[in-house]
Amino acid sequence: MPKKRVTAPVEREREHPARLDLIHEMINRYPDLPPEAIFKEDMLRTGLAFSPEALRLAARFKSKAYFIFSFDLVPLAEMAQQEHLYAPEEIALEGGPYDFRRTIVSVRLNPRSPYRVDVVQGQAVLKLEGTPIADVYFEPVPAYYTRTLSNGKRVIDIAPTIEWGYLVYLTVYRICQYFGEHEECRFCDINENYRQQIAAGRPYTGVKSIEEILEALEIIQETDTVSQAYTITGGSITTRLKGLTEVDFYARYAEAIERAFPRRWISKMVVQALPKDEVKKFKDAGVQIYHPNYEVWDERLFALLCPGKARFIGHREWVRRILDAAEIFGPTHVIPNFVAGIEMAKPYGFQTVDEAIASTAEGLDFFMSHGICPRFTTWCPEPLTALGPQNPQGAPLEYHVRLLRVWRDTHAKYRLPVPPGYGDPGIGRAVFSVSAFMDVIDVGHGSTMAASRDGTESADARRMHTG
Ligand code: SF4
Repeated sequence: MPKKRVTAPVEREREHPARLDLIHEMINRYPDLPPEAIFKEDMLRTGLAFSPEALRLAARFKSKAYFIFSFDLVPLAEMAQQEHLYAPEEIALEGGPYDFRRTIVSVRLNPRSPYRVDVVQGQAVLKLEGTPIADVYFEPVPAYYTRTLSNGKRVIDIAPTIEWGYLVYLTVYRICQYFGEHEECRFCDINENYRQQIAAGRPYTGVKSIEEILEALEIIQETDTVSQAYTITGGSITTRLKGLTEVDFYARYAEAIERAFPRRWISKMVVQALPKDEVKKFKDAGVQIYHPNYEVWDERLFALLCPGKARFIGHREWVRRILDAAEIFGPTHVIPNFVAGIEMAKPYGFQTVDEAIASTAEGLDFFMSHGICPRFTTWCPEPLTALGPQNPQGAPLEYHVRLLRVWRDTHAKYRLPVPPGYGDPGIGRAVFSVSAFMDVIDVGHGSTMAASRDGTESADARRMHTG
Protein backbone atom coordinates (compact mmCIF):
# COMPACT_ATOMS: atom_id res chain seq x y z
CA MET A 1 0.00 0.00 0.00
CA PRO A 2 1.30 3.46 -0.75
CA LYS A 3 2.08 5.61 2.20
CA LYS A 4 -0.50 8.17 3.23
CA ARG A 5 -0.10 11.07 0.82
CA VAL A 6 0.51 14.63 1.81
CA THR A 7 -1.22 16.81 -0.75
CA ALA A 8 -0.88 20.20 0.87
CA PRO A 9 2.38 22.14 1.16
CA VAL A 10 3.67 22.58 4.68
CA GLU A 11 4.95 26.05 4.00
CA ARG A 12 4.51 28.70 1.40
CA GLU A 13 6.89 31.50 0.75
CA ARG A 14 4.40 33.30 -1.50
CA GLU A 15 0.72 33.87 -1.06
CA HIS A 16 -0.70 32.66 -4.36
CA PRO A 17 1.73 30.55 -6.35
CA ALA A 18 -0.34 30.01 -9.48
CA ARG A 19 1.51 26.96 -10.76
CA LEU A 20 1.27 25.20 -7.45
CA ASP A 21 -2.47 25.84 -7.42
CA LEU A 22 -2.68 24.25 -10.84
CA ILE A 23 -0.73 21.22 -9.62
CA HIS A 24 -3.03 20.85 -6.63
CA GLU A 25 -6.05 21.11 -8.86
CA MET A 26 -4.70 18.23 -10.98
CA ILE A 27 -3.82 16.15 -7.92
CA ASN A 28 -7.31 16.59 -6.54
CA ARG A 29 -9.05 16.00 -9.84
CA TYR A 30 -7.03 12.85 -10.66
CA PRO A 31 -6.37 11.12 -7.35
CA ASP A 32 -5.72 7.84 -9.17
CA LEU A 33 -2.39 9.24 -10.44
CA PRO A 34 0.73 9.53 -8.29
CA PRO A 35 1.28 13.23 -7.49
CA GLU A 36 4.95 12.68 -8.32
CA ALA A 37 4.00 11.89 -11.94
CA ILE A 38 2.00 15.13 -12.20
CA PHE A 39 4.93 17.19 -10.93
CA LYS A 40 7.25 15.28 -13.27
CA GLU A 41 5.20 16.01 -16.37
CA ASP A 42 4.94 19.67 -15.41
CA MET A 43 8.70 19.93 -14.91
CA LEU A 44 9.37 18.25 -18.25
CA ARG A 45 7.18 20.69 -20.17
CA THR A 46 8.44 23.74 -18.20
CA GLY A 47 12.12 23.10 -17.56
CA LEU A 48 14.25 23.56 -14.50
CA ALA A 49 16.35 26.43 -13.08
CA PHE A 50 19.32 26.10 -10.72
CA SER A 51 20.53 28.50 -8.07
CA PRO A 52 24.28 29.20 -8.20
CA GLU A 53 24.78 27.03 -5.08
CA ALA A 54 22.80 24.15 -6.59
CA LEU A 55 24.77 24.39 -9.80
CA ARG A 56 28.04 24.28 -7.88
CA LEU A 57 26.82 21.19 -6.02
CA ALA A 58 25.51 19.50 -9.18
CA ALA A 59 28.83 20.06 -10.96
CA ARG A 60 30.34 17.34 -8.77
CA PHE A 61 27.91 14.77 -10.20
CA LYS A 62 27.09 13.26 -13.59
CA SER A 63 26.45 16.08 -16.05
CA LYS A 64 24.12 16.56 -18.98
CA ALA A 65 25.54 14.91 -22.11
CA TYR A 66 23.25 16.41 -24.77
CA PHE A 67 22.73 12.88 -25.98
CA ILE A 68 20.70 13.80 -29.11
CA PHE A 69 18.53 16.94 -28.91
CA SER A 70 19.11 19.93 -26.65
CA PHE A 71 16.05 19.23 -24.47
CA ASP A 72 16.43 22.79 -23.12
CA LEU A 73 13.99 25.68 -23.16
CA VAL A 74 16.63 28.31 -23.92
CA PRO A 75 19.57 28.24 -26.32
CA LEU A 76 23.04 27.64 -24.86
CA ALA A 77 24.00 31.22 -25.66
CA GLU A 78 21.37 32.53 -23.22
CA MET A 79 22.50 30.54 -20.21
CA ALA A 80 24.04 33.22 -18.00
CA GLN A 81 25.45 30.68 -15.54
CA GLN A 82 26.64 28.33 -18.30
CA GLU A 83 24.21 25.83 -16.89
CA HIS A 84 24.78 23.51 -19.84
CA LEU A 85 28.29 22.75 -18.59
CA TYR A 86 27.38 21.96 -14.99
CA ALA A 87 23.75 20.83 -14.81
CA PRO A 88 23.02 17.15 -14.14
CA GLU A 89 21.61 14.76 -16.71
CA GLU A 90 18.76 13.87 -14.38
CA ILE A 91 17.61 14.46 -10.85
CA ALA A 92 16.02 12.06 -8.37
CA LEU A 93 13.25 13.53 -6.23
CA GLU A 94 12.51 12.00 -2.85
CA GLY A 95 10.78 12.84 0.43
CA GLY A 96 9.93 16.43 1.25
CA PRO A 97 6.49 17.87 2.11
CA TYR A 98 4.75 15.64 -0.45
CA ASP A 99 6.56 12.52 0.72
CA PHE A 100 7.84 11.80 -2.80
CA ARG A 101 8.64 8.26 -3.72
CA ARG A 102 11.85 8.22 -5.75
CA THR A 103 11.13 9.89 -9.11
CA ILE A 104 13.74 10.35 -11.84
CA VAL A 105 13.36 13.44 -14.03
CA SER A 106 15.39 14.46 -17.05
CA VAL A 107 16.90 17.95 -16.70
CA ARG A 108 15.61 20.43 -19.25
CA LEU A 109 17.24 23.75 -18.57
CA ASN A 110 15.18 26.90 -18.29
CA PRO A 111 16.66 29.69 -16.13
CA ARG A 112 13.22 31.35 -16.08
CA SER A 113 11.37 28.27 -14.82
CA PRO A 114 9.21 28.44 -11.67
CA TYR A 115 10.84 25.10 -10.79
CA ARG A 116 14.18 25.76 -9.20
CA VAL A 117 16.76 23.57 -7.50
CA ASP A 118 18.24 25.32 -4.49
CA VAL A 119 20.43 24.26 -1.58
CA VAL A 120 19.06 24.40 1.97
CA GLN A 121 21.44 23.48 4.78
CA GLY A 122 23.62 21.49 2.42
CA GLN A 123 20.72 19.54 0.88
CA ALA A 124 19.55 20.16 -2.69
CA VAL A 125 15.83 20.93 -2.70
CA LEU A 126 13.31 21.38 -5.50
CA LYS A 127 11.14 24.45 -5.09
CA LEU A 128 8.16 25.56 -7.10
CA GLU A 129 7.69 29.31 -6.97
CA GLY A 130 9.64 29.28 -3.72
CA THR A 131 7.72 26.46 -2.06
CA PRO A 132 9.76 23.35 -1.20
CA ILE A 133 8.50 20.28 -3.05
CA ALA A 134 11.03 17.45 -2.58
CA ASP A 135 14.65 16.70 -1.80
CA VAL A 136 16.90 16.40 -4.84
CA TYR A 137 19.64 13.85 -5.40
CA PHE A 138 22.18 13.71 -8.20
CA GLU A 139 23.69 10.66 -9.87
CA PRO A 140 27.35 10.05 -9.04
CA VAL A 141 29.80 10.30 -11.94
CA PRO A 142 30.16 6.74 -13.26
CA ALA A 143 33.72 5.44 -13.46
CA TYR A 144 33.51 5.18 -17.25
CA TYR A 145 32.85 8.94 -17.55
CA THR A 146 36.32 9.60 -16.15
CA ARG A 147 37.96 7.59 -18.94
CA THR A 148 38.87 8.58 -22.47
CA LEU A 149 39.19 6.64 -25.70
CA SER A 150 42.58 6.08 -27.32
CA ASN A 151 41.81 8.98 -29.69
CA GLY A 152 41.26 11.29 -26.73
CA LYS A 153 37.46 11.49 -27.00
CA ARG A 154 35.44 11.27 -23.82
CA VAL A 155 32.96 8.49 -23.14
CA ILE A 156 30.31 11.12 -22.39
CA ASP A 157 30.49 12.19 -26.06
CA ILE A 158 30.58 8.72 -27.61
CA ALA A 159 28.44 6.56 -25.29
CA PRO A 160 26.59 8.63 -22.65
CA THR A 161 24.10 6.98 -20.34
CA ILE A 162 20.67 8.18 -19.26
CA GLU A 163 17.81 6.77 -17.17
CA TRP A 164 20.05 6.78 -14.11
CA GLY A 165 22.67 4.73 -15.93
CA TYR A 166 20.25 2.09 -17.28
CA LEU A 167 20.47 3.04 -20.97
CA VAL A 168 23.59 3.62 -23.09
CA TYR A 169 22.51 6.16 -25.68
CA LEU A 170 24.38 5.83 -28.96
CA THR A 171 23.51 8.70 -31.27
CA VAL A 172 25.87 7.52 -33.97
CA TYR A 173 24.81 10.23 -36.44
CA ARG A 174 24.09 13.59 -34.82
CA ILE A 175 22.60 15.21 -37.92
CA CYS A 176 19.40 14.58 -39.87
CA GLN A 177 19.15 14.63 -43.64
CA TYR A 178 15.70 16.17 -43.42
CA PHE A 179 16.82 19.78 -43.73
CA GLY A 180 14.97 23.06 -43.59
CA GLU A 181 11.35 24.02 -43.08
CA HIS A 182 9.99 21.74 -45.80
CA GLU A 183 11.58 18.60 -44.37
CA GLU A 184 12.72 18.90 -40.76
CA CYS A 185 10.21 17.81 -38.14
CA ARG A 186 8.91 21.02 -36.66
CA PHE A 187 9.44 19.97 -33.04
CA CYS A 188 13.00 18.69 -33.55
CA ASP A 189 16.27 20.57 -32.93
CA ILE A 190 18.75 17.82 -33.80
CA ASN A 191 20.45 19.91 -36.50
CA GLU A 192 20.24 23.21 -34.61
CA ASN A 193 21.52 21.55 -31.46
CA TYR A 194 24.48 20.13 -33.35
CA ARG A 195 25.29 23.61 -34.64
CA GLN A 196 25.02 25.27 -31.24
CA GLN A 197 27.12 22.62 -29.51
CA ILE A 198 29.87 22.97 -32.10
CA ALA A 199 29.66 26.77 -31.87
CA ALA A 200 29.97 26.51 -28.09
CA GLY A 201 33.16 24.48 -28.51
CA ARG A 202 31.85 21.19 -27.12
CA PRO A 203 33.51 18.05 -28.49
CA TYR A 204 30.53 16.63 -30.34
CA THR A 205 31.16 13.88 -32.86
CA GLY A 206 28.89 14.13 -35.93
CA VAL A 207 29.36 10.58 -37.17
CA LYS A 208 30.72 8.13 -34.62
CA SER A 209 32.83 5.29 -35.94
CA ILE A 210 32.09 1.69 -35.06
CA GLU A 211 35.56 1.47 -33.53
CA GLU A 212 34.83 4.39 -31.20
CA ILE A 213 31.55 2.86 -30.13
CA LEU A 214 33.13 -0.52 -29.40
CA GLU A 215 35.97 1.04 -27.44
CA ALA A 216 33.57 3.10 -25.36
CA LEU A 217 31.39 0.06 -24.67
CA GLU A 218 34.47 -1.91 -23.66
CA ILE A 219 35.24 0.78 -21.08
CA ILE A 220 31.65 0.70 -19.83
CA GLN A 221 31.63 -3.07 -19.66
CA GLU A 222 34.83 -3.07 -17.58
CA THR A 223 33.53 -0.67 -14.99
CA ASP A 224 29.73 -0.83 -14.87
CA THR A 225 26.92 -3.12 -13.79
CA VAL A 226 24.02 -0.65 -13.98
CA SER A 227 23.50 -0.32 -17.73
CA GLN A 228 21.08 -2.90 -19.13
CA ALA A 229 20.25 -1.63 -22.62
CA TYR A 230 21.62 0.43 -25.46
CA THR A 231 19.90 2.47 -28.11
CA ILE A 232 21.35 3.05 -31.56
CA THR A 233 19.90 6.10 -33.23
CA GLY A 234 20.55 9.30 -35.12
CA GLY A 235 19.09 11.46 -37.84
CA SER A 236 17.25 10.05 -40.82
CA ILE A 237 19.24 9.15 -43.91
CA THR A 238 17.27 10.00 -47.01
CA THR A 239 20.08 9.55 -49.52
CA ARG A 240 23.22 7.81 -48.37
CA LEU A 241 25.76 8.23 -45.62
CA LYS A 242 29.24 6.88 -46.19
CA GLY A 243 27.77 5.19 -49.25
CA LEU A 244 25.15 3.36 -47.21
CA THR A 245 21.37 3.54 -46.96
CA GLU A 246 19.71 4.14 -43.59
CA VAL A 247 19.22 0.47 -42.78
CA ASP A 248 22.72 -0.57 -43.80
CA PHE A 249 24.36 2.37 -42.04
CA TYR A 250 22.66 1.74 -38.69
CA ALA A 251 22.57 -2.09 -38.82
CA ARG A 252 26.39 -2.25 -38.93
CA TYR A 253 26.60 -0.82 -35.43
CA ALA A 254 24.24 -3.39 -33.94
CA GLU A 255 26.02 -6.19 -35.74
CA ALA A 256 29.43 -5.09 -34.48
CA ILE A 257 28.22 -4.58 -30.90
CA GLU A 258 26.46 -7.93 -30.78
CA ARG A 259 29.53 -9.67 -32.19
CA ALA A 260 31.79 -8.06 -29.58
CA PHE A 261 29.39 -8.21 -26.61
CA PRO A 262 26.75 -10.82 -27.42
CA ARG A 263 23.56 -10.08 -25.46
CA ARG A 264 25.44 -8.02 -22.85
CA TRP A 265 22.76 -5.34 -23.24
CA ILE A 266 19.20 -5.21 -24.57
CA SER A 267 19.63 -3.94 -28.12
CA LYS A 268 17.32 -1.16 -29.35
CA MET A 269 17.15 0.67 -32.67
CA VAL A 270 15.42 4.03 -33.18
CA VAL A 271 15.17 4.85 -36.87
CA GLN A 272 12.45 5.47 -39.44
CA ALA A 273 9.67 3.04 -40.30
CA LEU A 274 11.40 1.05 -43.03
CA PRO A 275 10.06 -1.64 -45.40
CA LYS A 276 9.79 -5.13 -44.03
CA ASP A 277 12.78 -6.59 -45.86
CA GLU A 278 14.96 -3.80 -44.50
CA VAL A 279 13.63 -4.14 -40.96
CA LYS A 280 14.58 -7.80 -41.12
CA LYS A 281 18.21 -6.72 -41.51
CA PHE A 282 18.03 -5.15 -38.06
CA LYS A 283 16.68 -8.35 -36.60
CA ASP A 284 19.45 -10.33 -38.32
CA ALA A 285 22.01 -7.89 -36.92
CA GLY A 286 20.90 -8.70 -33.38
CA VAL A 287 18.51 -5.84 -32.65
CA GLN A 288 15.83 -6.88 -30.18
CA ILE A 289 13.57 -3.84 -30.00
CA TYR A 290 12.59 -1.58 -32.89
CA HIS A 291 11.33 1.98 -32.40
CA PRO A 292 9.80 3.38 -35.62
CA ASN A 293 8.58 6.61 -34.03
CA TYR A 294 5.33 7.98 -35.47
CA GLU A 295 5.55 11.26 -33.49
CA VAL A 296 1.86 12.19 -33.78
CA TRP A 297 -1.20 10.06 -34.55
CA ASP A 298 -3.38 12.52 -36.46
CA GLU A 299 -2.70 12.23 -40.19
CA ARG A 300 -3.18 15.94 -40.95
CA LEU A 301 -0.81 16.92 -38.17
CA PHE A 302 1.74 14.31 -39.24
CA ALA A 303 1.90 15.98 -42.66
CA LEU A 304 2.31 19.42 -41.10
CA LEU A 305 4.68 18.55 -38.28
CA CYS A 306 6.79 15.88 -40.00
CA PRO A 307 6.88 17.18 -43.58
CA GLY A 308 9.94 15.17 -44.60
CA LYS A 309 8.62 11.90 -43.25
CA ALA A 310 5.22 12.60 -44.76
CA ARG A 311 6.70 13.27 -48.18
CA PHE A 312 9.21 10.41 -48.24
CA ILE A 313 7.07 7.77 -46.55
CA GLY A 314 3.62 9.08 -45.61
CA HIS A 315 1.48 8.52 -42.54
CA ARG A 316 -0.46 5.50 -43.73
CA GLU A 317 2.62 3.74 -44.99
CA TRP A 318 4.37 4.56 -41.73
CA VAL A 319 1.58 2.93 -39.74
CA ARG A 320 1.51 -0.06 -42.08
CA ARG A 321 5.25 -0.54 -41.62
CA ILE A 322 4.87 -0.48 -37.84
CA LEU A 323 2.40 -3.36 -38.11
CA ASP A 324 4.70 -5.18 -40.55
CA ALA A 325 7.60 -4.83 -38.12
CA ALA A 326 5.55 -6.62 -35.48
CA GLU A 327 5.68 -9.73 -37.66
CA ILE A 328 9.46 -9.63 -37.51
CA PHE A 329 10.16 -8.57 -33.94
CA GLY A 330 6.93 -9.64 -32.30
CA PRO A 331 4.46 -6.92 -31.30
CA THR A 332 5.85 -6.42 -27.78
CA HIS A 333 9.25 -5.59 -29.26
CA VAL A 334 8.01 -2.86 -31.59
CA ILE A 335 7.70 0.28 -29.49
CA PRO A 336 7.04 3.42 -31.54
CA ASN A 337 7.39 6.76 -29.77
CA PHE A 338 5.23 9.83 -30.09
CA VAL A 339 5.98 13.33 -28.86
CA ALA A 340 3.28 14.03 -26.31
CA GLY A 341 1.84 17.50 -26.67
CA ILE A 342 2.76 18.49 -30.22
CA GLU A 343 -0.80 17.72 -31.30
CA MET A 344 -1.74 20.92 -29.42
CA ALA A 345 1.05 23.09 -30.86
CA LYS A 346 0.08 26.40 -32.40
CA PRO A 347 -0.70 27.18 -35.16
CA TYR A 348 -1.74 23.75 -36.46
CA GLY A 349 -2.74 21.72 -33.42
CA PHE A 350 -6.00 20.86 -31.73
CA GLN A 351 -7.59 23.74 -29.86
CA THR A 352 -8.84 21.75 -26.90
CA VAL A 353 -7.46 19.11 -24.59
CA ASP A 354 -10.51 16.95 -25.28
CA GLU A 355 -9.77 16.84 -29.02
CA ALA A 356 -6.06 16.17 -28.52
CA ILE A 357 -6.66 13.37 -26.04
CA ALA A 358 -9.36 11.82 -28.23
CA SER A 359 -7.01 11.71 -31.21
CA THR A 360 -4.03 10.36 -29.31
CA ALA A 361 -6.20 7.82 -27.51
CA GLU A 362 -7.44 6.56 -30.87
CA GLY A 363 -3.84 5.91 -31.93
CA LEU A 364 -3.02 4.17 -28.66
CA ASP A 365 -6.07 1.97 -28.93
CA PHE A 366 -5.23 1.10 -32.51
CA PHE A 367 -1.68 0.01 -31.79
CA MET A 368 -2.35 -1.60 -28.44
CA SER A 369 -5.20 -3.65 -29.92
CA HIS A 370 -2.47 -5.13 -32.16
CA GLY A 371 -0.27 -5.84 -29.15
CA ILE A 372 2.07 -2.94 -29.98
CA CYS A 373 2.69 -0.58 -27.09
CA PRO A 374 3.66 2.97 -28.07
CA ARG A 375 5.43 5.11 -25.52
CA PHE A 376 5.93 8.84 -25.41
CA THR A 377 8.39 11.61 -24.72
CA THR A 378 6.92 14.73 -23.17
CA TRP A 379 7.27 17.56 -25.65
CA CYS A 380 10.00 20.05 -24.83
CA PRO A 381 9.33 23.18 -26.93
CA GLU A 382 12.96 23.94 -27.68
CA PRO A 383 13.43 27.52 -28.91
CA LEU A 384 15.50 26.52 -31.94
CA THR A 385 12.71 24.39 -33.38
CA ALA A 386 10.05 25.68 -35.75
CA LEU A 387 7.31 25.22 -33.12
CA GLY A 388 9.23 26.44 -30.09
CA PRO A 389 8.91 30.23 -30.37
CA GLN A 390 5.12 30.09 -30.78
CA ASN A 391 4.67 27.56 -27.97
CA PRO A 392 6.99 28.51 -25.11
CA GLN A 393 4.64 26.91 -22.57
CA GLY A 394 4.29 23.64 -24.48
CA ALA A 395 0.96 21.83 -24.10
CA PRO A 396 -1.36 22.38 -21.11
CA LEU A 397 -0.60 20.34 -18.01
CA GLU A 398 -4.12 18.92 -18.11
CA TYR A 399 -3.30 17.30 -21.47
CA HIS A 400 -0.24 15.57 -20.05
CA VAL A 401 -2.06 14.39 -16.96
CA ARG A 402 -4.98 12.98 -18.91
CA LEU A 403 -2.61 11.32 -21.36
CA LEU A 404 -0.98 9.43 -18.50
CA ARG A 405 -4.40 8.03 -17.56
CA VAL A 406 -5.34 7.14 -21.13
CA TRP A 407 -2.03 5.40 -21.74
CA ARG A 408 -2.20 3.50 -18.43
CA ASP A 409 -5.81 2.45 -18.95
CA THR A 410 -5.39 1.38 -22.58
CA HIS A 411 -2.29 -0.61 -21.65
CA ALA A 412 -4.28 -2.32 -18.89
CA LYS A 413 -7.33 -2.85 -21.15
CA TYR A 414 -5.28 -4.97 -23.56
CA ARG A 415 -3.35 -6.61 -20.71
CA LEU A 416 -0.04 -5.80 -22.31
CA PRO A 417 3.30 -6.56 -20.70
CA VAL A 418 5.58 -3.87 -19.37
CA PRO A 419 7.46 -2.55 -22.42
CA PRO A 420 10.88 -4.22 -22.40
CA GLY A 421 14.03 -2.13 -22.31
CA TYR A 422 12.88 0.51 -19.85
CA GLY A 423 13.79 -1.00 -16.51
CA ASP A 424 11.43 -1.50 -13.64
CA PRO A 425 7.92 -0.01 -13.78
CA GLY A 426 5.89 1.77 -11.16
CA ILE A 427 6.18 4.82 -8.97
CA GLY A 428 9.30 4.78 -6.83
CA ARG A 429 11.10 2.37 -9.15
CA ALA A 430 10.91 3.71 -12.70
CA VAL A 431 14.03 5.24 -14.25
CA PHE A 432 12.61 6.41 -17.58
CA SER A 433 13.10 10.16 -17.29
CA VAL A 434 11.58 11.97 -20.29
CA SER A 435 7.95 11.17 -19.51
CA ALA A 436 6.07 9.55 -16.65
CA PHE A 437 4.55 6.60 -18.51
CA MET A 438 6.70 4.08 -16.63
CA ASP A 439 5.90 5.79 -13.32
CA VAL A 440 2.15 5.28 -13.74
CA ILE A 441 2.18 1.83 -15.29
CA ASP A 442 -0.31 -0.52 -13.72
CA VAL A 443 1.77 -3.49 -12.60
CA GLY A 444 -1.25 -5.26 -11.19
CA HIS A 445 -3.33 -6.02 -14.24
CA GLY A 446 -2.45 -9.68 -14.46
CA SER A 447 -0.49 -10.25 -17.64
CA THR A 448 2.20 -7.70 -16.89
CA MET A 449 5.70 -9.07 -17.21
CA ALA A 450 8.79 -7.30 -18.41
CA ALA A 451 10.41 -9.25 -21.21
CA SER A 452 14.15 -9.61 -21.04
CA ARG A 453 16.79 -9.27 -23.67
CA ASP A 454 16.47 -12.94 -24.56
CA GLY A 455 12.70 -13.12 -24.32
CA THR A 456 12.62 -14.82 -20.93
CA GLU A 457 11.73 -13.10 -17.70
CA SER A 458 14.10 -10.30 -16.79
CA ALA A 459 15.65 -9.78 -13.38
CA ASP A 460 13.26 -6.86 -13.07
CA ALA A 461 10.32 -9.11 -13.90
CA ARG A 462 11.42 -11.80 -11.48
CA ARG A 463 11.61 -9.21 -8.75
CA MET A 464 8.09 -8.15 -9.65
CA HIS A 465 6.81 -11.71 -9.26
CA THR A 466 8.68 -12.60 -6.12
CA GLY A 467 8.48 -9.20 -4.44
S1 SF4 B 1 13.37 12.58 -38.72
FE1 SF4 B 1 12.48 14.36 -37.71
S2 SF4 B 1 12.55 13.87 -35.48
FE2 SF4 B 1 13.97 12.49 -36.53
S3 SF4 B 1 15.95 13.50 -36.41
FE3 SF4 B 1 15.05 14.06 -38.39
S4 SF4 B 1 14.01 16.00 -38.05
FE4 SF4 B 1 14.41 15.06 -36.02
